[in-house]
Amino acid sequence: MSHYFHALIHSPSSLPVPSSSPGGGAPAPSLIAASVASPSRAVRLQRAKASVERREQVMAEQGGTAALGWAARDATGVLSPYNFSRRVPRDDDVTIKVLYCGICHTDLHIIKNDWGNAMYPVVPGHEIVGVVTGVGGGVTKFKAGDTVGVGYFVGSCRSCESCGKGNENYCAGVVFTSNGVDYAHGGEPTKGGFSDAIVVSEHYVVRVPDGLPLDRTAPLLCAGVTVYSPMVRHGLNAPGKHLGVVGLGGLGHVAVKFAKAFGAKVTVISTSPSKRDEAIQFGADEFLVSRDPEQMKAAVGSMDGIVDTVSAWHPIAPLLALLKPLGQMVIVGAPSKPLELPVYAIVPSGKGVAGNSVGGVGDCQAMLEFAAKHGIGAEVEVIKMDYVNTAFERLEKNDVRYRFVIDVAGSLGSAA
Ligand SMILES: [Zn+2]
Ligand SMILES: [Zn+2]
Repeated sequence: MSHYFHALIHSPSSLPVPSSSPGGGAPAPSLIAASVASPSRAVRLQRAKASVERREQVMAEQGGTAALGWAARDATGVLSPYNFSRRVPRDDDVTIKVLYCGICHTDLHIIKNDWGNAMYPVVPGHEIVGVVTGVGGGVTKFKAGDTVGVGYFVGSCRSCESCGKGNENYCAGVVFTSNGVDYAHGGEPTKGGFSDAIVVSEHYVVRVPDGLPLDRTAPLLCAGVTVYSPMVRHGLNAPGKHLGVVGLGGLGHVAVKFAKAFGAKVTVISTSPSKRDEAIQFGADEFLVSRDPEQMKAAVGSMDGIVDTVSAWHPIAPLLALLKPLGQMVIVGAPSKPLELPVYAIVPSGKGVAGNSVGGVGDCQAMLEFAAKHGIGAEVEVIKMDYVNTAFERLEKNDVRYRFVIDVAGSLGSAA
């Protein structure tokens, strides 16, 4: 997913420098495996683990809240129950009992240390819906009993240009919800939503509007805002626009729903003809099989924008041909090999290619209000916490329609 790049930029550990040669790009899995297996790395991990445990012990003694989560301990990615402490709430902190948490592809990459930046034990989860159980003295936006959401990040510098413009997601000091480095709180590795409770500054918490089904809302906190925010930014959120959605997975299926709710005409573009019925069922007007040259040719120059959600390598020139002059493609997937961008595909007709990673706090709040107004939710398979390892195995094989969501409160015991 798009968070791959964040992981590269903000990784606290040193990553192998990606090769710029064709076929390079991401660190080769074998390289990562080798570095994980080397004794010096194992020793470093051991020391880091010991220091984390010491910090947690100190925190618990200082009055942190006991929490129960599920954590991966090493690159096997296998999760098991894990007792730890949440920080002592500060003035601007909200304590949240986690009700539901979605499973994102990013979680899978992190627990398996695919990006070489895992800080075990890793408690995944950044698609969190919960209820407020306590607020600090300075909290103004929330009170106990409020239904709230937490997405991909729980902190940022709040003083840079990006933060000033509400693009906290692009702040150089962004703190990820899971496996992030919490600079403002002693450099603690953050622990995500696969846990009974979480403590988050109110600035990074959003309100879940009444009427939204909470399980179907959880994936909107990452997958939803990832596709909603670029549609708004690039002006594709208007009736009469024709939008292409490439790939019909966790991101793509909510992209179709948002685009239809904006009043756009939507065409789903997929390699597999078998997805046609579901695409139409989610509201798509048309369906294009990208491997069928005749179908692709007939659609050349017809679209105002394209949201490309595909994480596997794929040719983009045929997709760019589908855009009208000055049309905009937005890439939200993260193939590990560089995509090919021939200039002829964009220069003569002034087309744009942009990236997008989740959205700011304001975007996320606006997205939820919009979802509530239009009855938009993700298609989910709700699971118990003890099914999580099987869920990750299935996710790895793309065997999910369309997002796993863990019933955290219903299967992990109640929060403090
Ligand atoms: Zn995600
Ligand atoms: Zn900032």
